[in-house]
Amino acid sequence: MDKREFLKRAGLLTAGGVVAGSMSPLTASNMVGSLAAKKQVGLQIYSVMRELNADVPAGLKKIADIGYTNIELAGYGNRKMGEYSVEDYRKLADDAGLKITSSHVNPPTRNITKDKLGEIADFWKQTVEDHLKFGVKTLVQPMMPQMETHDDVAVVCESFNKAGEIAKAAGIKFGYHNHNMEFGRIVKPEDKDKPRNPWMPVGDVIYDMFLEQTDPSLVFFEMDVYWTVMGQADPLEYFSKYAGRFPVLHIKDRKVLGQSGMMNFKNIFNAAYKNGLEGYYVELEGLNEGDKTQFQGVKECFDYLNKAPFVK
Ligand code: MG
Repeated sequence: MDKREFLKRAGLLTAGGVVAGSMSPLTASNMVGSLAAKKQVGLQIYSVMRELNADVPAGLKKIADIGYTNIELAGYGNRKMGEYSVEDYRKLADDAGLKITSSHVNPPTRNITKDKLGEIADFWKQTVEDHLKFGVKTLVQPMMPQMETHDDVAVVCESFNKAGEIAKAAGIKFGYHNHNMEFGRIVKPEDKDKPRNPWMPVGDVIYDMFLEQTDPSLVFFEMDVYWTVMGQADPLEYFSKYAGRFPVLHIKDRKVLGQSGMMNFKNIFNAAYKNGLEGYYVELEGLNEGDKTQFQGVKECFDYLNKAPFVK
């Protein structure tokens, strides 16, 4: 609803403008602002972990007060969130007015081999059970497993598909979050000694193999756009080449969003919306000692997105 439409519906608009005397245009415009749908901006809580852990109930309230509507967890382990049970943590988030919509969880090993697939599947079953209590929509594996060969990649993708199947049965989507290493390549043994142009990279990009060897109905990709760029890849190329695989993003910059000049968030959001973006999480890393606080940093990130006309 645009401003004019709102005023019409509120009965405040005459042919000449806002009803004289009943409300100043300024007040009316404030009302439009406050009644307009609030942007749904999510936060990956890793961004404020140090300061949040000092006082979780107060910290969660601070996140909500800044304007964030939902959070993605980091730190689930041993069926708990730090010192809190799943139920207690959910209650703290509810009390703060925050929805827990996602969670980053790594399987018990980074060395995913055939013989460990059963153990890993059991881990995901347990994890999904706990995450139903958090009320998440997505569960995301955030760290790259160890891989040296194409066969290793195939087993890792098998584990992703299995995790996706387990999560899907419970109504949760399973995803994978990247850093920059996923844009590294693995060379087939038979290609290792072939003559090659030294300027041309050889081998297959790990991230592409993940995308191609996972079932789109079971595994989505939570692209971290900053780490993608750091991997010398272009988020937009991926959105078009693998359309529909990136319903959730990590919106991250070198430090505070929009300040490095290296991330074109306008292009990223425009393309992501066209590609079915359902949600995103702000992530802040890289603050040095003596910089602003983590909470100040995530407030500046929120303000950047809240003001950005390209963010719906
Ligand atoms: Mg990230």
